[in-house]
Amino acid sequence: MTFAVTVLTLYPEMFPGPLGISLARRALDAGRWRLDAVNIRDFAVDRHRTVDDTPAGGGAGMVLRADVLAAAIDSVATGAPLIAMTPRGKPLTQARVRALAAGPGVTILCGRFEGLDERIFAARGIEEVSVGDYVLSGGEMGALVLLDACVRLLPGVMGAPSSGDEESFDSGLLEYPHYTRPAEWEGRTIPEVLRSGDHARIAAWRKSMAETDTRLRRPDLWERHEGARVDPPSGARHEKKDE
Ligand code: SAH
Repeated sequence: MTFAVTVLTLYPEMFPGPLGISLARRALDAGRWRLDAVNIRDFAVDRHRTVDDTPAGGGAGMVLRADVLAAAIDSVATGAPLIAMTPRGKPLTQARVRALAAGPGVTILCGRFEGLDERIFAARGIEEVSVGDYVLSGGEMGALVLLDACVRLLPGVMGAPSSGDEESFDSGLLEYPHYTRPAEWEGRTIPEVLRSGDHARIAAWRKSMAETDTRLRRPDLWERHEGARVDPPSGARHEKKDE
């Protein structure tokens, strides 16, 4: 099955961009996913091809017009989930990425300037997604982030089928740290247990590191993880992860 991606943007030349190399490129060439970058400006209604206007209520910058956005969205109607990149959206999680990657594809609306006319979200049933608590100049980089995270999960895209199984966030924890040869480098050694060949000890060490590092680095994740463990009524553990 092909994961069908449509991006609505004022800068279609930004795609596939960095997804045109390496694993994502190979997957694109192999037809594991496809990409259609649609220029919002093609749906402007006036002769100057205007897509934006000044903010109602005043203030700096310009806002993308709902009527132009609607025309662009309605022209693609793919049936895939419709997502807008916005800093006001729900923070993107690995659980959301996994759910998207398991579906037919995604249509992503990229904002620019001050953003999108608020009415478009309810009018077209759009899910707002943020890639983090900072402000980008446009939704395109966010879309590339979301797509990169999805594409690497598509069946057959990553080299080893297991390399996506145990990663950061899948268990609600950060991943344990990695090491490779040389065994000693600049006076620093690899933890002895990893060279012991004792798989049970290694697994225990990795679990303990994942827990310790999550607790210290990401108390927010740790609290959720612990909450899910302490009180798991009918599938709640899974729901917590999917938030
Ligand atoms: N005035 C807005 C910022 C607009 S930035 C505010 O203060 O909230 C312009 C566009 O960049 C947005 O419409 C959105 O599509 C994109 N963007 C910026 N930051 C983002 C983020 N953290 N996540 C997702 N998209 C973002």
